[in-house]
Amino acid sequence: MNRPGPQIVLLGIGHTNAHVLHMWRRAPIPDARLVCVSSFAVATYSGMLPGTLTGQYPPGRLEIDLRSLANAARAELVVEPARAVDIEARSVRFEEHGPVRFDVLSVGVGSVPGTAGIAVSGAAWVPVKPMQTFLMRLYERLQGLSRRRPEGVRVLVMGGGVGGIEISLCLPSYIRRVLGAVRHTVSVVDARERIGRGLSPRALRKVESLLAARNVNVIAGKRVIRVSDEDVVCADGHRIPADLVVLATGAAPPPVLESMALPKDPRGFLLTRDTLQSTGAANVFAVGDSGAVAGGGAPKAGVYAVRQGPVLWRNIGSLTRGEALARHEPQHDFLRLLNTGDGKALMDYKGRAVHARWCRLLKHWIDGRFMSRFRVTRKE
Ligand SMILES: Cc1cc2nc3c(=O)[nH]c(=O)nc-3n(C[C@H](O)[C@H](O)[C@H](O)COP(=O)(O)OP(=O)(O)OC[C@H]3O[C@@H](n4cnc5c(N)ncnc54)[C@H](O)[C@@H]3O)c2cc1C
Repeated sequence: MNRPGPQIVLLGIGHTNAHVLHMWRRAPIPDARLVCVSSFAVATYSGMLPGTLTGQYPPGRLEIDLRSLANAARAELVVEPARAVDIEARSVRFEEHGPVRFDVLSVGVGSVPGTAGIAVSGAAWVPVKPMQTFLMRLYERLQGLSRRRPEGVRVLVMGGGVGGIEISLCLPSYIRRVLGAVRHTVSVVDARERIGRGLSPRALRKVESLLAARNVNVIAGKRVIRVSDEDVVCADGHRIPADLVVLATGAAPPPVLESMALPKDPRGFLLTRDTLQSTGAANVFAVGDSGAVAGGGAPKAGVYAVRQGPVLWRNIGSLTRGEALARHEPQHDFLRLLNTGDGKALMDYKGRAVHARWCRLLKHWIDGRFMSRFRVTRKE
């Protein structure tokens, strides 16, 4: 009797694992089976969220349709959040779906905004993740507020990293489309003394002047500890009035990582070798935001997650064939393009900062090229 081939399971279809699915569609690994596990039937591409807020893209444009992609790739798709992974038993566990066995597992469940030490009550809280439901939750909250606060809606973005800055700059145009004539204010709060971590000094100066020109109030050096329906309270007792709090704080590990008996970094992300394999299990890869290359320290950014895709694909193939694995070498610097919500983007690269319309066109081209790989246009 023939031995069944290996079962490869992709847990979370984000920037890195989606590449494996894309390659599988082109040329699957012989005799192997691919199972994709995703909390939702679509995956979202964060790079296009700001453009969706400004109305540059229709809401569906930042989504990858996983059902048709998996179908075209002849892969199985389980649409349910995984609750736990038993590494020893080689099994992914769910609440409803039966356990999914794996021979090779790639964990790419991304990250969630950090909420440690924040007490939340009421309905003002709108975390950016899961991104699949963000626009719907944002819309519903704004709709509710348009009736309750006709005198003006106070929006607070929590987290002044690159994602929070883009949201602060692009949200006003979305709010105007939803609320029409109702007035609104936007503020951004960050626990650090200065927003824009990772940006060059020139880009940061430009960001600060853009935020000031749009009347976005920057509140730096304040750690939020409580969120309610009317305001947020900071650790020093300072209160910031807010009817809508968009949570875009730094990356924290999704809960399912906790269940995995594997080595983790101090923040709780899975520690890996430079082959992207867990340091505790050779048949488990951890990629994108979910992984942390031991001794590496690359930032949690989609750019890095995307670059890991080809190495992951190659290494999954090598592992199933018993060949040597390739090393992933993250680049030292990367091109940052921030949508500034005014038809332009801010390019930050090697210390140079350019704010121009062509930068947005470049971003549009890069993002569109990435997304085009996952579009299924005809029956395959
Ligand atoms: C607003 C915003 C804008 C950003 N803009 C940029 C940018 O312009 N450039 C850039 O480089 N980076 C950007 N980032 C960062 C970037 O989004 C992340 O680094 C990137 O998404 C990481 O990719 P990933 O594959 O690890 O995870 P993700 O792309 O987040 O994918 C993880 C997937 O796993 C699924 N999942 C989670 N838990 C489970 C579970 N238990 N079971 C099954 N599935 C699960 C999720 O639903 C999701 O589909 C931005 C982030 C934000 C919040």
